[in-house]
This record gives sequence, C-alpha cells and structure tokens, in this order.
Amino acid sequence: MAHEAVIGLECHIQLRTRGKMFCGCPAEFGAPPDTNVCPVCLGLPGALPRANRAAVEAALRLGLALGCAIREESVFARKHYFYPDSPKNYQITQYDRPLCAGGSLPVGEAGGERRYDLERLHLEEDTGKSSHPVRAGDRAFSLVDFNRAGVPLLELVTQPVFREPAECAAFLAALRRLVRWLGVSDGDMEKGQLRCDANVSLRPAGAAALGVKTELKNLNSIRGVERGLAAEIARQRLLLEGGGVVGQATLSYDVEHDRLAVMRSKEDAHDYRYFPEPDLPVLRVVGAVLEAARAGLPELPWTRAARLVGRYGLSAHDASVLCEQRELADYYEACAAVADERLAANWVMTEVLRVLHERAGSIGEFAARVPAVRLGGLVARVAAKEIPGPLAKQVFGWMLDEEGGVDELLARHGVRAMGAATDLRPLVLEVLGEHAAAVAQVLAGSSRTLDFLVGQVMKKSRGQAAPQVVRELLETEFARRAAGESPPRAPRGGP
Ligand code: ADP
Ligand code: ZN
Ligand code: MG
Repeated sequence: MAHEAVIGLECHIQLRTRGKMFCGCPAEFGAPPDTNVCPVCLGLPGALPRANRAAVEAALRLGLALGCAIREESVFARKHYFYPDSPKNYQITQYDRPLCAGGSLPVGEAGGERRYDLERLHLEEDTGKSSHPVRAGDRAFSLVDFNRAGVPLLELVTQPVFREPAECAAFLAALRRLVRWLGVSDGDMEKGQLRCDANVSLRPAGAAALGVKTELKNLNSIRGVERGLAAEIARQRLLLEGGGVVGQATLSYDVEHDRLAVMRSKEDAHDYRYFPEPDLPVLRVVGAVLEAARAGLPELPWTRAARLVGRYGLSAHDASVLCEQRELADYYEACAAVADERLAANWVMTEVLRVLHERAGSIGEFAARVPAVRLGGLVARVAAKEIPGPLAKQVFGWMLDEEGGVDELLARHGVRAMGAATDLRPLVLEVLGEHAAAVAQVLAGSSRTLDFLVGQVMKKSRGQAAPQVVRELLETEFARRAAGESPPRAPRGGP
C-alpha cells in the first residue's frame, strides 16, 4: 500500500533584542561563558522575572505579519523538566493561552504562493548551551554556558500541512526571510538563531486520519531538515510496508553521517506539569500597542514582490529574487527610480548579486560603495544607448573600487563612450561618404550590405559605439534617402 508523509514543524526563532526575555542581561552571542548572567536567568531563589517589552513587540510584529489572531490576554506558564543547561529546572513559556494563534505563511514566487497554516506563535526563553569537548585524559565531561539561558525565543508551530521535505525547506527559507525582513531575528541557522523540530508520520495515501508521529529534534540547517525528514520517511515506510508499526519517539539526526538515533521513546515521555507562572502577571496587549505594531510593519515581502511585478513589469521570478532581502528590494527600487526599470532589475540581479557573492558582502556594504543612484545613473546611460553594454560592465567594475560618476570614470580610464546618437552621427555620415557603392546596394535592398556598414562605423568608433544605435542611425538615414530627402551635408574636415 502506498503511504504519504505528513509533516508539521516547530520552529524556534531567537529574537534580536538587547536584553533577555525576563531580565536585563545582554542577549548577545559570543561573550565569554557565564558572563551574561544574573539571579533571574540563573534561577536563584527569590529572583523575579519581568517580561521584555521589545520581545513582546517583536512577537507582535511577526504575529501580525503572519495574520495570526493576537490574544489580548496571554499567559506565561512553567514547563518543568530537568536538564543541565536549564538552571531553573523549568522553562517559562506559553501553553494554553499563547500570544498568537492561527495565521499562515505564504511560500513561493509572487502570484503563485502557497499558504501554510500555522497553529500558534508564542514567547518563551531559551536554555543555556551544553558542549561536549573531547575527553581530557580518562575523564569524560561536559561544559555548560548559561549566557543563552533566558534569551527570548518565539516558537512557531505549523499545522501538519507539509507532504514533502522540500516543502519544509522552502517554508524555512521563507520564514528566515520574513524574520530578517521584519528585523525580529538574524535567523542564522548555523548560529542557532533559527532551529527546527520536525514531526512526521505516514498514512495510507488518501486516508484522513494521521498516523503515529516521530519528532526529529534540533535540526540546525535547512539541509538537515530536508535530509533528516527524507531518512525518517524512508525508515517509517520500510517499517509499515513490512507490516510493522511506527512507535512514537523523539529522534536526533546527524546530517554529516545521514544517521538517525532514538533519543527517547514514548515510555519515557515527559509530563511537564505545566502551570501558570506565578511570578508574572497576565500579558495584556492593549489596543494602542497593537496598533503601533501594526503601523510599524513594513510592506511584507510577498506584497512587495507582487507590487514589483505590477508596477515595473518584472517577472514573478525576478521580483522574488529582488525581494529575497528587504535591503535588496530597497536598492533595486532606488535604482529603478532613476533608470529603466527592467534593465535596472537585470543589473541588480546579475552584476550586483554576482559581486555580493564573490566578495561575500552584504547589500548594505555594497550600497555604501555604489549607492543605488550611482548604479542607476550608469544603467540610465545604458538604457539611453549612450554606453554600450560591455563598456558599462567595465565602468561598473571601476565603480566598485573608485570614486566618481560615469563620465569621470570614463575620462580617468581614457575611454570616450560613443553611444549618444549625436556623437555617432558624424561617423555614420563619414562612412556613408566613403562607401558610395555600398550605399547604392543598401538602397537597392541588400541587408547584408547594411551589416557591413554597421561594421565600418563600429570600426571607426574603435569598438566604443553601441551597435544597436549605429544600426538605428543608419536605418534612419537610409529611410530618409529612400524617401528622396536630400542628405544633410557631411561634416567637413573631421577631427
Ligand atoms: P506534541 O504534543 O507532541 O508536541 P503537537 O500536537 O503539539 O504535538 O504538534 C507538534 C507538531 O507536530 C505540530 O507542528 C503538528 O502539526 C505536528 N503534528 C501533530 N501530529 C502529527 C502527526 N500525526 N503527523 C505529523 N505531524 C504531526
Ligand atoms: Zn539575567
Ligand atoms: Mg507541542
């Protein structure tokens, strides 16, 4: 019997706030171990937590962007478990009354997005970090660093809406883009700022009821999610097709060795003994705060991609590429404001993205070097056919390392762009004057001879003319002559 997979994701998003979730310790990454700690995040007796307003606001931004219902009164709860990196022996999270419920995330190119429904989005605190260095002598030991304990997290739980690992990968990429777009998180999976648990079950194709699920814990790359799920789906399929059953379990996945391991089975499932956190009041989101969060939202990436398609005539694909990062979309639009919109899109997608890739830089750093109006100025000259494409690419290369506008750069490098029709017209007339026989042939209908004349003008310009402009000038001239107008006088002398 054929089986289909059903997958639901639980994503943890580390918020980019200055302080931790319930105390004022810095939430920064990379400080020496156990230096960003205080009685609250160390769980010392009598210390009182206090919710971080910036974290709540970040949660509201993401919740609103995802179209979640925002609960006016949500409740923090204690989730009890012992783990060495959790100094309180419980985690403050939200349980039956989370801040945000429902909502969905659109994934895919402009106009063709698919929305994946969410269950909830809630605030909680992160744990510390254990590390397991290699054995020293004959003693095995582990280290724990509490700097991360208490750093604000948002947990986002999807409905069981995915059928393929690749959909999960696309979802995570879209989520990462959104949290960065909103400025709520850096979303770097390698740094653990975005982590994912994947729940997966199989069921006979077409069945409505869900099968028994397993959970892959703490996947920390998109590739890990995709490959781990593929491995687990294969494992479950083999079991079921052999007449066996899947046991509920929590698994870990080692992406380097493509290996699954059982962390715990249902027998040792936790009872977390949730209860409302007695040290924190109900979290009340008043209307003004909600409205301020709503008003502060930027245009969302999928809305913006659709607008780029509608307003500038870009393809859905191009619009999606440009909306991969908010700063890139900003850069593009600033360019498009001063230059041809589609040509600007091509330049940003090919030249700018190539440089970002080669130099491993950010669009912000790039824009500091080549502001959008500067690139736009160059693109505008290309669009006006004043500068041929290959020369423009060279100018772009100079822009990366040198100051100055297009003309300054051309002058500095001893290049005169012959692109403007007014620049080229004298050359065209000169060539026509020198090749009377060819002119007669073109007038008699020979298009091959026209190609020859284009080549002659190009030669005279020493390759600096735009062939398209030359061709258009020649065509205009021949049209005029065919219509019997007298040719304008060829320039006398020349340079
Ligand atoms: P748990 O109580 O084990 O944490 P939840 O009901 O909270 O499970 O769901 C956690 C995640 O697992 C959600 O993303 C949900 O969509 C998904 N999920 C729940 N049941 C299944 C199932 N049978 N198969 C696949 N995913 C599931
Ligand atoms: Zn603290
Ligand atoms: Mg759950």
